[in-house]
Amino acid sequence: MDARVASLCCRSISCCASHHPSQFLCWNADGHFRLRSLNSLLIYKDGRVSRSKSFQLLPVAWCSSGFSDFGTSKRRGRGPSMRAINGDKEKDKEGAKYKDTVDLPQTGFNLRANSVVREPEIQKMWEETKIMDRVSEKNDGGTFVLHDGPPYANGDLHIGHALNKILKDFINRFQRYGVWADWNNPYLTLKPEYEAAQIEVFGQMVLKGHIYRGKKPVHWSPSSRTALAEAELEYPEGHTSISIYAAFKIVDVGESFPENLKMFLPRLGVAIWTTTPWTIPANAGVAVNDKLVYAVVQVHEPPETGLVEDRSGKGGKNNIKFGSGLHNPDIQYLVVALDLVEALQSKWHVKLEVKGTLLGSELEHSRYTHPLFQRECPVVVGGNYITTESGTGLVHTAPGHGQEDYVTGQKYNLPMFSPVDDEGNFTVEAGDFQGMSVLGDGNMAVVEALQKASHLLLQEAYVHKYPYDWRTKKPTIFRATEQWFASVEGFKEAALNAIADVDWFPPQGENRITAMVSGRSDWCISRQRTWGVPIPVFYNVNTGEPLMTQETISHVQEIIRQKGSDAWWYLEVQDLLPEEFRKEADQYIRGNDTMDVWFDSGSSWAAVLKTRKDLKWPADVYLEGSDQHRGWFQSSLLTSVAVQGSAPYKKVLTHGFVLDERGLKMSKSNGNGIDPEVVIEGGKNQKEAPGYGADVLRLWVASVDYTGDVMIGDRILKQMSDIYRKLRGTLRFLLSNLHNFNPELDTIQYENLPMIDKYALFQLANVMDEITESYRCYHFYKFYQLIQKFAVVDLSNFYFDTAKDRLYVGGTKNFTRRSCQTVLAAHLLCLVRAIAPVLPHMAEDAWQHLPFSHLLKDGSKCDYVFESGWPLIEDQWRSLSADNVEYWKALMQIRTEVNKVLETARGAKLIGASLDAKVLLSTANEALLSRLIQHTKEDPDKLCRIFITSQVEIIRSIEEAKSLDINYTGIYNLEGQGDLWVGVSKADGSKCERCWNYSPKVGFFPNHPSLCERCHSVICEGAEIKYQTATVV
Ligand SMILES: [Zn+2]
Repeated sequence: MDARVASLCCRSISCCASHHPSQFLCWNADGHFRLRSLNSLLIYKDGRVSRSKSFQLLPVAWCSSGFSDFGTSKRRGRGPSMRAINGDKEKDKEGAKYKDTVDLPQTGFNLRANSVVREPEIQKMWEETKIMDRVSEKNDGGTFVLHDGPPYANGDLHIGHALNKILKDFINRFQRYGVWADWNNPYLTLKPEYEAAQIEVFGQMVLKGHIYRGKKPVHWSPSSRTALAEAELEYPEGHTSISIYAAFKIVDVGESFPENLKMFLPRLGVAIWTTTPWTIPANAGVAVNDKLVYAVVQVHEPPETGLVEDRSGKGGKNNIKFGSGLHNPDIQYLVVALDLVEALQSKWHVKLEVKGTLLGSELEHSRYTHPLFQRECPVVVGGNYITTESGTGLVHTAPGHGQEDYVTGQKYNLPMFSPVDDEGNFTVEAGDFQGMSVLGDGNMAVVEALQKASHLLLQEAYVHKYPYDWRTKKPTIFRATEQWFASVEGFKEAALNAIADVDWFPPQGENRITAMVSGRSDWCISRQRTWGVPIPVFYNVNTGEPLMTQETISHVQEIIRQKGSDAWWYLEVQDLLPEEFRKEADQYIRGNDTMDVWFDSGSSWAAVLKTRKDLKWPADVYLEGSDQHRGWFQSSLLTSVAVQGSAPYKKVLTHGFVLDERGLKMSKSNGNGIDPEVVIEGGKNQKEAPGYGADVLRLWVASVDYTGDVMIGDRILKQMSDIYRKLRGTLRFLLSNLHNFNPELDTIQYENLPMIDKYALFQLANVMDEITESYRCYHFYKFYQLIQKFAVVDLSNFYFDTAKDRLYVGGTKNFTRRSCQTVLAAHLLCLVRAIAPVLPHMAEDAWQHLPFSHLLKDGSKCDYVFESGWPLIEDQWRSLSADNVEYWKALMQIRTEVNKVLETARGAKLIGASLDAKVLLSTANEALLSRLIQHTKEDPDKLCRIFITSQVEIIRSIEEAKSLDINYTGIYNLEGQGDLWVGVSKADGSKCERCWNYSPKVGFFPNHPSLCERCHSVICEGAEIKYQTATVV
């Protein structure tokens, strides 16, 4: 497989606060730099901290937290070998004689990672050897495309950005095993070829009839003086608006208005509620829900006008001010939703007497006078958006200032007043309010005017979610302007079908984007900015008619491909027009609108995937934060469906946000942000903030379930660093015990391996299958759990623990040592490659310390871990019979119980190291008992080696066992195997000087009176490899 990341460095990043092209370019350069610097997680990093090197030969103590049983080498002790490794000062005493016959671990692979220095060295090596190109050349699979999207939309996102890039890197390295993103060749939406491709997408949509110009209310940012899309908004906490209740006097009623209520007509009004009083001048109607029941109520005992009441008890913002409208003699009766009468009584501090009821539909076509201007407006039926959840159940409708109002207005042909200019100030159409800011003095002036005209019922501060411009962080307004729209209605069904064809992970993503797309209105794609890709349209100077044909678009596209989008602004109109229009060039002016940045990034599939030869469309994977369902995933989907008819991706992965250790959002003001650079390199104070290296940060990414929000903090990083160190210790054990192993000469054939080694390979095969699957499904946290349990817990507590005896004192070239090394080599080659996608530096570091040459299929030496390919598991490793698997599982259980009794005996000082002990076993399970009795007496499978004691004796029945005079015993129920009796006594015989095992044979050999029979044979027979004597169970 070939994996590629096309990285985006694009202007559609919120951090781009500047509107000026040159500043923007500066920012872009900086942004590019930041992207680069963040890439140090993946590729480059300048090492700058040099630390004194400490060299430790000893593998870590395999004492794993959470495992409190006896099985740790520290407690067991390992005789003279261990002593030698420890550099014990007593070297001249016991064991010194045979010191040179012990095989000590040897490797240059340091237990201490020294990542801050070592990782950059490894990156430099990859860079210099062009390892990426080498792996690329050897690729014989298909192309895998992970298309990199725009960075996060908002917030303090350094660590979130790291999460995103690292996840992408995991996938890439797994898919092609080691292809790094092509960071040297990112796609830039600023490049002419990108802009030209984007114009092409736009052109295709024009030709398919998906683009139109219309006057509609859009999100407008007065601070940026441009239209904005939903994805360019943010909704900060704590926005407070002035909300008002107002009454409009009814002057006429519709045909279906109930006769019995007409008596109230001369003094009847409709009550409305709004959080944007400045839109009252643009009021063109009041909308009701035709199915709701409304009441005509009489207002009694109104509070004093202007009275301020503090209902919050805290004063300030929650103050309520009663209006003069409650005393208006012309409006003594009000229409409100029946369900809201009680709530409004208490809100307005009045008594409301219900005089009669009517349906919303019966209010239709009634007319009222505008409270501030001399015009009549109708009561209309709106949609289901009118509810009794808040307000009055009647909705002030200004089609120029709201999406729902616009739709209702279209239905009734209401005028679309929008007396507000680009800066958010009232225009001359707003009369006396002209020049005032709708978000400032203009808003208050409207409230005061309503009060003066006795139409204001109540005024109150109102805290709610309100859209802000994501760049300027200032409030926006809804305002009708002439804009270009993509008619999502036209291809919505195709878009929904395309969504169903995509594989969404986590699966909730599909519901999310389906709901968003099905609920969305047409996409306003034009912006009023001085930068960006222009909408390639000309307008007739006399008629204002737009000119945009296939020819004009193609012509502009070609110019932009050659000169960039700036050409749109500096060329003469006649040069922008194709030949056939050139003579009439003086009749046209160019359009000033640019395209929505989401149209820019949403065109990347066309500009990158379809344009670059080494990529393909659709991409295999898009992977971004879940906020991109409303952003890049959606804009890419819409443009792709509009032009191509299907989605630009096969699979979409999303990740959550990064929170601190307490689960709180990270922000500058909270001071709880985590800078990935500091995690990697360390902070100013290295004691408080040590440099963990990129791999520890990557391990953290692997450890979390990224599909939801994830947490990080000092404690978590410390934990990751511990796990990292233990994994490093695992690799170090493997490397250091293979130092004189030549795979070509010393590997033991599978069929000749002892049972314990076959069992180890069986487990390795299983865990590798699971690891492969977890990568394939992008479940990296499963990889993390598997590797942690297998390498850190299983291997160190069992296989490594029992292996030390034969590795250190079994005799350099002895069969038992070679078979163990055969298994260790298999583990090393599997594990180092299995961790490489997540921990590339550690894997490469280990690979560079391989004590032997690993050969590729073609016989050449594999110099780098990423050249080695994904490890293939030999089928025979899985061939262990079910019967044997069961038996070894039972042995593992027995071992756990034995360790408990050993621990008791050790606590009581009967024994020190476990080798001081003899273990006695019995079980009520006949089958298991006979299996234990028949268990081989040969190394390395014999039971005493598995338990790391000097002897093991099987007792024929539990009855008999209980009659023995043994002080330390235990009875345990083995899962599915019946009762087990364990006894521990002092080992028989004397302690061997070389291996510390006890044996009655110690003292029998005249030339080596202090050795046991095993050590005697190792010393005297030396290099003999005892293949024939190995008994396989
Ligand atoms: Zn010995």
